[in-house]
Amino acid sequence: MNPTLSPQEIFANCERAVPALRREPASERKKRLNSLRRWIHDHRSDIHEAVFADLGKPPLETDATEIFHVLNEIKVAVRSLREWSEPKQMPTPFYMAGTQAWIQCEPKGVCLITATWNYPFSLAVGPMVSALAAGNSIILKPAEATPSVSALIKRMCSEIFDPSIATTCEGGVEVSQALLALPFNHIFFTGSTGVGKIVMKAAAEHLSSVTLELGGKSPAIICGSANINDAAERIAVGKFVNNGQTCIAPDYILVDEKIADDFVRTLISKTGKLFSAEGDFQTSPSYGRIVHTAHFARVRNLILDAVDAGATIGWQGPYDQRSRFMHPVILTHVPPGCRLMQEEIFGPVLPVISYHDLRDAIRIVNEKPKALALYVFTSSEKVRDQVLRETSSGTACINDCAIQFLHHNLPFGGINSSGIGKSHGHFGFLAFSNQKAVLKQKKGFTSVKLFYPPYTSRSRRIMDWFLRLF
Ligand code: NAD
Repeated sequence: MNPTLSPQEIFANCERAVPALRREPASERKKRLNSLRRWIHDHRSDIHEAVFADLGKPPLETDATEIFHVLNEIKVAVRSLREWSEPKQMPTPFYMAGTQAWIQCEPKGVCLITATWNYPFSLAVGPMVSALAAGNSIILKPAEATPSVSALIKRMCSEIFDPSIATTCEGGVEVSQALLALPFNHIFFTGSTGVGKIVMKAAAEHLSSVTLELGGKSPAIICGSANINDAAERIAVGKFVNNGQTCIAPDYILVDEKIADDFVRTLISKTGKLFSAEGDFQTSPSYGRIVHTAHFARVRNLILDAVDAGATIGWQGPYDQRSRFMHPVILTHVPPGCRLMQEEIFGPVLPVISYHDLRDAIRIVNEKPKALALYVFTSSEKVRDQVLRETSSGTACINDCAIQFLHHNLPFGGINSSGIGKSHGHFGFLAFSNQKAVLKQKKGFTSVKLFYPPYTSRSRRIMDWFLRLF
């Protein structure tokens, strides 16, 4: 945190910037976004280094999963900002004849963005793009578990933004709590469901609006009609990129028992080809690390607990807590009550459960809290529609994994325990905007006057006629 200013003082500075930000034309916001874009291009290797230092993430993976997303968000916002910010005329219902109505997006004001560590650059800077596009002043708290990226984001903000427009508060839970006590106009939180509830309680104190980007157990259903090679390869990428520390990674697999053995064999072979260097994951430049030793121990305990409960290890290899290296692990015959099937895994461990009837798979999904993402691999449109209709999740993807995140015309977010509100592209802009409803009345006689008091038998007759129209 800025050593000289308290969170209250930082907040007060931001509040002072709000009136000027409201008056600003869209072109000023675009300038700000373009300077962010330039900084990212100029410091791409700094971002690679910081993400590698914190997560051991290969630079190309950082380009694909951190930098591309933010640059794309900027590009879409700059291109569309005028259209998004212009008042949107709305059609007039007949009973309001003579009026004009429009929706005018205005900045919410001072916004808090709290990010987590698994994509420490894009989860902090992505929402910042939406908040800046919408004309807000921002306090950003990067994730404390990824200190190199946190320091880099702080440097970035100080180099390109006036601190009253975008500033960074680094630190852990205590900083987060101090910030949450302030009357933000909007809070955009990314993290766990448990902390999401704490954030929502704090927001309730000031009735701050919230976007909660949370997690949970995202299932992947592999149906009998799926192309096993494609499904295994795409699951391998969705699961083992970033060492399984992806909010929309497939958390567990439900596979038709007719193809289960074949699928597991293919998944192992594809994962090896994609992520290991001639069979060795530990020396592979394409395979990441777990963020810190406490998280490593947690994931390891999930495996041990499942094995104790009767799960079978389908695939494993060496692990090293000191360097936070964990070989991919596949478990089968996992009992439904064990922690591995109850908690979000968030690591390179994949339980594979076979089902006899698709309805059983759907029942297993529906017994759990609603997921952030659901994947179904099938060549049957009927099966696809059945799964989409009979389950509920924030997002869904057919015959691939995780790529729905990258489609900027789709809203991204969860439902209930996997999240509240949506982000990305126009949806992100709307999350940080108040959609003000404006109605302009004409002079003289208006249709609404027909119902003004005093209430006479004439106005009663008009009302009786009017209600019959509905
Ligand atoms: P977390 O919830 O522990 O921490 C996130 C942020 O909350 C941190 O900045 C931390 O300082 C703050 N925090 C932690 N405890 C707090 C408290 N008691 N009071 C106030 N603030 C507190 O995050 P995590 O569990 O390490 O992150 C992983 C989770 O995030 C997973 O569940 C994952 O699915 C989810 N996630 C979701 C998305 C998404 O876009 N939906 C993206 C990435 C991760």
